[in-house]
Amino acid sequence: MPSYKAPLREMQFILFDVLKVDDPNNGVPAYAEMGQDVIAAVLEEASRFSEEVLQPLNHSGDEEGCTFHDGAVTTPKGFKAAYEKFVEGGWSAIACGAEHGGQGVPNAVNFAFEEMISSANLAFGLFPGLTHAAHNALLAHGSAELKQTYLPKLVDGTWLGTMCLTEPHCGTDLGLLRTRAEPLSDGSFLLNGTKIFISAGEHDLTENIIHLVLARLPDAPPGIRGISLFVCPKFLPLPDDKLGARNPVVCGSIEKKMGIKASPTCVMNFDGAKAWLVGVPNKGMTAMFTMMNLARLMVGIQGLGIAEAAYQGGLSYARNRLQMRAPTGAKYPNLAADPLIVHPDIRRLLMRMKTMTEGCRALAMWIGNEHDIAIGHHDASRREAADDLVALMTPVVKAMLTDHGFNAANDGVQIFGGHGYIREWGMEQLVRDARITQLYEGTNGIQALDLVARKLTMGTGRVARRFFHPVAAYLELNAATADLAEFITPVAKAFSRLQQATLWLGTAGTANPDDAASAATDYLRLFGLVAIGYMWCRMTETALALNKKKEDSFYASKIACARFYMAKILPETGSLLINITAGSKAVMALSEEHF
Ligand SMILES: Cc1cc2nc3c(=O)[nH]c(=O)nc-3n(C[C@H](O)[C@H](O)[C@H](O)COP(=O)(O)OP(=O)(O)OC[C@H]3O[C@@H](n4cnc5c(N)ncnc54)[C@H](O)[C@@H]3O)c2cc1C
Repeated sequence: MPSYKAPLREMQFILFDVLKVDDPNNGVPAYAEMGQDVIAAVLEEASRFSEEVLQPLNHSGDEEGCTFHDGAVTTPKGFKAAYEKFVEGGWSAIACGAEHGGQGVPNAVNFAFEEMISSANLAFGLFPGLTHAAHNALLAHGSAELKQTYLPKLVDGTWLGTMCLTEPHCGTDLGLLRTRAEPLSDGSFLLNGTKIFISAGEHDLTENIIHLVLARLPDAPPGIRGISLFVCPKFLPLPDDKLGARNPVVCGSIEKKMGIKASPTCVMNFDGAKAWLVGVPNKGMTAMFTMMNLARLMVGIQGLGIAEAAYQGGLSYARNRLQMRAPTGAKYPNLAADPLIVHPDIRRLLMRMKTMTEGCRALAMWIGNEHDIAIGHHDASRREAADDLVALMTPVVKAMLTDHGFNAANDGVQIFGGHGYIREWGMEQLVRDARITQLYEGTNGIQALDLVARKLTMGTGRVARRFFHPVAAYLELNAATADLAEFITPVAKAFSRLQQATLWLGTAGTANPDDAASAATDYLRLFGLVAIGYMWCRMTETALALNKKKEDSFYASKIACARFYMAKILPETGSLLINITAGSKAVMALSEEHF
């Protein structure tokens, strides 16, 4: 079974050395209040919780799964106790604002915690993860009364929440949804309909479950413009802090599925369940979108967490498993054979996992910090710029990190050989668990369309320029810096490919929408590889400077990994550009009956 150690130094290097989040110029007030020492202590404590409480339940949770009986869902052994420790430790509140009892930890720091949870036990992470999304929707759009009723208990972990969007006939296209909301004379509503695939829709971890539900009012216009958001509790809260009547929102069954088996994926039947409108009638999708960026970034972090766990598992196995000799002769002549780690093909897998994981982490934390700037910076124009950048980069982070999570999990299995395919080693679970992250919160194909069709054109290119301009300026500024040139040059080349692809989308892609749509996934990957290349330049710049002050193998390893990224991963941008600009003709050539 792979053991897990949170990569604390990696996280602190990005937060404090590369991004300098606690520098007053960064403009996020929470850092001044907390300071580097407190944040380091929070991360240390979070690592202990993830390693000691959550990780030991990952395999058993997968083996046992959730069970369903007569509307009730039982989580696997140990999950309830782990959740109690989660609440006791105050972890449910760390990223929530202080006004409802939270600790207000910045998003960039919370990303580190979410990564640890996802590495240790992705299925467990879904319980509080979706609650956080429900909390954010209520915070942004709920009335004062709804906030007062629900937020304190969602923040302190007494209750957990869900997001109920999907229905049997619609997932991506929510404009088709049919759940109905009938108004009552007291201002509340009755919900009727069926939602499917609802994570943590029913379970035994908390006394109450708070559902955030998309539904249609009787006079709603058809399609996406006629959807409203509602809050619908399992038990109706009473004013004296007690629980009232059981609301008829009932779990009909749970899915048998590929991975995250300890997370119940529920069919939820709303049979006249009492609910309250959140925000404005028919503006439910707008309400959802305001918290969607963060929720999608969080799914990206789940992919990152799986990638780190797979890397750690693969590395430990590669150090210990003895097979064959190194191509250049025995490296460990006293042993019966050399360990796997001497073999270049195993090195190739490990280096790809390591450099992509570290690059993805830097990318996610950069965007997490921009999210914090968008909320907390004193300068409105800086807030707006950060908000634009987060909007642009959200589909990139979600899709790149989750694709990497799945690829890294697969590479982890490869390093284990046949043993990777056997359940007791825990590596195949990572592949199964990772797969869902590429699908939910909008499939990665939909993320690519969002990038190409919405984000690139938003504000007539203003949003896209929030990435292109600073990256171009950085590459120009550092092109002549002797130590950095070997890293800047390949990234500048890849960046120019991205510019060409973007121009092509603006012309050919506009003339023929099939061209843009068929290029979207390759374009997102090209974008992501350039963004990660840019982060590798920034990490290398920092590592070179710190290594000059005090030599450290940590920095030397960063520089070596950057070289691998430039030589072995970034060149893929060349074939992506060719692929993108080849257009859609070959994709659309077959008539439907010839498939
Ligand atoms: C384990 C699990 C947990 C989940 N948790 C939740 C939850 O808590 N709450 C919730 O509401 N939902 C949840 N979901 C649902 C999930 O978000 C949806 O499955 C997902 O959004 C995709 O919708 P769909 O399955 O209906 O696929 P479809 O929308 O039918 O899409 C099928 C395929 O077609 C592609 N496609 C669709 N439209 C287009 C287009 N215009 N152009 C190109 N390609 C397109 C998609 O990318 C996908 O590859 C969960 C699902 C699972 C499996």
